[in-house]
Amino acid sequence: MTTSGDTQTSSYAWLRFSKTTLLKAGEGPLAVLFPPRCLLCGKPTPQLDILCERCIADLPPLEGPRCVKCQEPLSDPSLDLCRACGTRERWFDRALSLGPYEGAWGKLVRSLKFDKEPAVARFLSSGMAEYLVKEKPFGNIDVITYVPMTRRALHARGFNQAKLLARGLAKRIHRPMTRLLAKKSETQPQARLSARARRENLRGAFHLIRSVSGKVLLVDDIFTTGSTVEECAHTLKRGGCEEVFVLTVARA
Ligand SMILES: [Zn+2]
Ligand SMILES: [Zn+2]
Repeated sequence: MTTSGDTQTSSYAWLRFSKTTLLKAGEGPLAVLFPPRCLLCGKPTPQLDILCERCIADLPPLEGPRCVKCQEPLSDPSLDLCRACGTRERWFDRALSLGPYEGAWGKLVRSLKFDKEPAVARFLSSGMAEYLVKEKPFGNIDVITYVPMTRRALHARGFNQAKLLARGLAKRIHRPMTRLLAKKSETQPQARLSARARRENLRGAFHLIRSVSGKVLLVDDIFTTGSTVEECAHTLKRGGCEEVFVLTVARA
C-alpha cells in the first residue's frame, strides 16, 4: 500500500448521515413508545431520531496518523504500517472502524449490546453502509459475515450484536449475509489479557461451518487488539477465502 498513514482521516464526509438515514433509524414502535430524545445529549430531537443533528455532526472520526491496514495509531507518521502489521503477517487484509470507542461511539455500541435497541442497530448499520458506499475502502464484497458467539453466550444475551449489524449492513448494500463461523469453545474473558495471551486464548476457538471463497467482510462491534477478528480471518482463509476485510463500529 502506498497511501501515507495520515491521509486516511481526510475524508469523513460520510459521518454527516443523510436525512433518509436519520428517519429510517428513528422509525419503528420504540420511537412511538418513547419520546424522541437524543441518546447522547438527551435533548429532544425534532424528527424521530436517535441522535440530534448536532451529536451526529460531532461523531468523532479516528484521528491522527494511523496504520493503513488496522488503524493502530502510528508514533512515526512517515510510516504506513504499525509494528504488528509491518513485522508479522496479519490474516485479515484490512480492518477499519467508524470511530474511537471512547465517547459517543462507545456509548452507541453499549446501547446496542446491553439494550438491544433496534433503532441503534439500524443507525449503526446505516453508518457502516454509508461509509462503505462513499469511501469504498474494500472494493466489492462477495459475502458479509459476523463474529460468532458461543451457544452459551448467545443464550445468555439472547442476541448477537455483530449479527444485527451485519444483517442491517447486508440489507443496505445489497450483499448476501451468511453465517460462516461458529465459536466452539468458551474462552476466558479477553479484557484482562495481554495481546499475546488474547491470541493464545482464541487459538482454535472458531470453525468454519460452510465452504467459502472470494472476498468476505467480517463485521463486529468493537476492535480491541484485533485478536478476535484475526483468529476469525485465519479460519476463513484456511477455509478458502481469498480476502477478509473487517469493519467494526468502534476501535478501542
Ligand atoms: Zn444530541
Ligand atoms: Zn496495523
